[in-house]
Amino acid sequence: MTHMDILQAAGLTPSELSGGALAVHTPIDGSEIARLKSHSRDDVRAMIGNGTDAFMVWRKTPAPRRGELVRLIGEELRAGKENLGRLVTLECGKIYQEGLGEVQEMIDICDFAVGLSRQLYGLTIASERAGHSMRESWHPMGVCGIITAFNFPVAPWCWNAALALVCGDPVIWKPSEKTPLTALATQKICERAMEKFGDAPDDLIQVVIGERDTGEVLTGSPDVAIVSATGSSRMGHAVGQQLANRFGRCILELGGNNAMIVAPSADLEMALRAIVFSAVGTAGQRCTTLRRLIVHEDIFQQLVPRLKSAYDGLPTGDPLADGTLIGPLIDADAFAGMERALAEVIKDGGLVHGGGRTLENDYPNAWYAIPAIAEMPGQTDIVRHETFAPILYVMKYRDLEQAIALQNDVPQGLSSSIFSTDIREAEEFLSATGSDCGIANVNIGPSGAEIGGAFGGEKDTGGGRESGSDAWKGYMRRQTNTINYSRELPLAQGIKFEI
Ligand code: NAD
Repeated sequence: MTHMDILQAAGLTPSELSGGALAVHTPIDGSEIARLKSHSRDDVRAMIGNGTDAFMVWRKTPAPRRGELVRLIGEELRAGKENLGRLVTLECGKIYQEGLGEVQEMIDICDFAVGLSRQLYGLTIASERAGHSMRESWHPMGVCGIITAFNFPVAPWCWNAALALVCGDPVIWKPSEKTPLTALATQKICERAMEKFGDAPDDLIQVVIGERDTGEVLTGSPDVAIVSATGSSRMGHAVGQQLANRFGRCILELGGNNAMIVAPSADLEMALRAIVFSAVGTAGQRCTTLRRLIVHEDIFQQLVPRLKSAYDGLPTGDPLADGTLIGPLIDADAFAGMERALAEVIKDGGLVHGGGRTLENDYPNAWYAIPAIAEMPGQTDIVRHETFAPILYVMKYRDLEQAIALQNDVPQGLSSSIFSTDIREAEEFLSATGSDCGIANVNIGPSGAEIGGAFGGEKDTGGGRESGSDAWKGYMRRQTNTINYSRELPLAQGIKFEI
């Protein structure tokens, strides 16, 4: 299929793909695949106004009926899975299997949200006063702005949107300026679902095309009740401060610097496969990519040479082709960042296996990198920094306490894992004195989370939670209700106030 075939199969027409100033390139060969018109700041303000009108209607629609719309979106996603998955690959460069996986995640969260639409429940609480009852109610919040990153161009939108929609909130999506086409294609999928649904308000689901300034309109507007932002910690600091200034609800999903501890009792065959998938999958461009491997000194020589041989045979190339496991980096800046980090490794006394550019003759305008393993003398500054590229830093440890201290001694706190068959070690890692991350796994790698659990992390990762468990509460406002069904007016805490 040509690039144009992929774009058209996803429902995008040539007239929509031209005439603007925002150039979109495919990282597969670096060619320009679209030039989109960006929204102005005033356009975004008008969209927020339209979203607010949609809220007036949607908040009154019963939640299970709202769930029906999300069910229809899930159905349309099932029908369009291959076309959208291929577009994800074309636009962000992840291999087709991962493109399909991303759409599957969207389908899964829609299913989850449909069930949730009948379970938006609150507590009943014992009142201290006779003839009184107390309960918690959960109500829709308002317009939800969703800002997303290039590396997961569609799934995080859906983790947010599926929940926000059943919770009664209209959504306005600001995708990465590097991946706006998947957002436009998803919007078409939603429009088909809305048509089948029948009476959804206009502008319930909107997409803003543009750079960070359009995102800033969402974060700055008091009419955007919730902003859920996925991206770098640098972006999160800016967005978080703006939201804090106006006391807006903020859900931040930011950078990670994820580690795996490999203990002496580990099943090394399993560990090896998990390390390779988590470290080089998506060419090291996942927020949950394995970046730091902390290996017990007794098994270091058994594991690390085998890991290096596994790295040497990894098929790199066109992410649409069968059999490719590693696609391109998103752009030249990403490759330059990888080169800078590897230069720091050498300065710090580390040893680099792999690294450098490949396939430059076949794709002179694209950036395919050879994944690197960097054996480090310690956890230096460059190891503590998230470089969004396939570099795996390897360090040794002697006792578990030291390994956990290393795992926690970075600014980020997203995902972590331990490979161990010793239950004491595994439970220690999951305990209050273990990993400080939002995600901590045993005998699987740090990447590839399921939608059923709450997703997110601590410290520079921003503290937000999305997707499963009770993350839905982030999209609703909690109201405490006290109802007096007696003929007296007793005050709380027994206070006397007679008039
Ligand atoms: P980025 O921070 O450059 O951009 C992310 C989005 O934020 C884009 O849409 C961008 O236009 C917007 N943006 C940037 N500054 C803004 C501002 N001041 N106000 C409003 N919007 C603003 O990130 P990226 O390079 O696209 O993605 C890679 C980063 O995202 C990595 O750090 C990765 O770890 C992180 N990420 C985190 C998660 C997670 O769930 N924790 C998931 C995917 C990616």
